[in-house]
Amino acid sequence: METDPTRMCELLVGLPDVVVLWVIDDDGDEPIRVYVETRGGRPCCRVCGVPAGVKERPEVELVDLCCFGRQARLVWRKYRWQCANGLCGVGSWTGEERRIAAPRLGMTDRAARWATEQIGRVGRSVSDVAGELGCAWHTVNDAVIAYGSAPVEDPDRIGPVTALGLDKTLFCRQGPWRRQQWCTSIVDVESCPGQLLDVVEGRSEPKVLRLGSRSPGHMARGDLLGCARPVRSVSQDVL
Ligand SMILES: [Zn+2]
Repeated sequence: METDPTRMCELLVGLPDVVVLWVIDDDGDEPIRVYVETRGGRPCCRVCGVPAGVKERPEVELVDLCCFGRQARLVWRKYRWQCANGLCGVGSWTGEERRIAAPRLGMTDRAARWATEQIGRVGRSVSDVAGELGCAWHTVNDAVIAYGSAPVEDPDRIGPVTALGLDKTLFCRQGPWRRQQWCTSIVDVESCPGQLLDVVEGRSEPKVLRLGSRSPGHMARGDLLGCARPVRSVSQDVL
């Protein structure tokens, strides 16, 4: 049975190769803050091979998953290294660990994956997820773009399509002159129910044509279906 309190604390935090330094819970309305550092040893300079020295210990605060019903932040005390060889021209570098967080994102890896799942699969809005985590809209949106772009762009996400439906929709009116902004919805009309494949900006964007080129054996002019006049006009624009 596990009895070491330090080890038990690390198990609760659930991150690989980290040491939990301390936990701060100043105010019940504020997120709980867990301070960690990585357990890895001292690296060597990639050029001269001399063991590096610690230059700074910058703290990076990351939005993490809620824990025990509380919003949470992971404060990562990173290592900023510098080569100990005075004759080496290598600049300083920061130790990264992608299993904790991707560089330049404001969320932990696990929180970013969860947020992407909530928005991409469950269908929640960015603001809803940001509200649950207690962070800024842009923090969630940046993470979802970083983690969600690859699966969205993967052609296998769509698979074979035998009949496409295109529909132009007035998306919104923008600016002082309320200029019309259109979008085109692309649907696999033979799936049941019809599967929305993509939504592209405009009424005759080249992106629609690029989508069709992903599965050239499964799409031809005659495969475009639709009963509305805008659908026919879109198909004439792009094929
Ligand atoms: Zn060096």
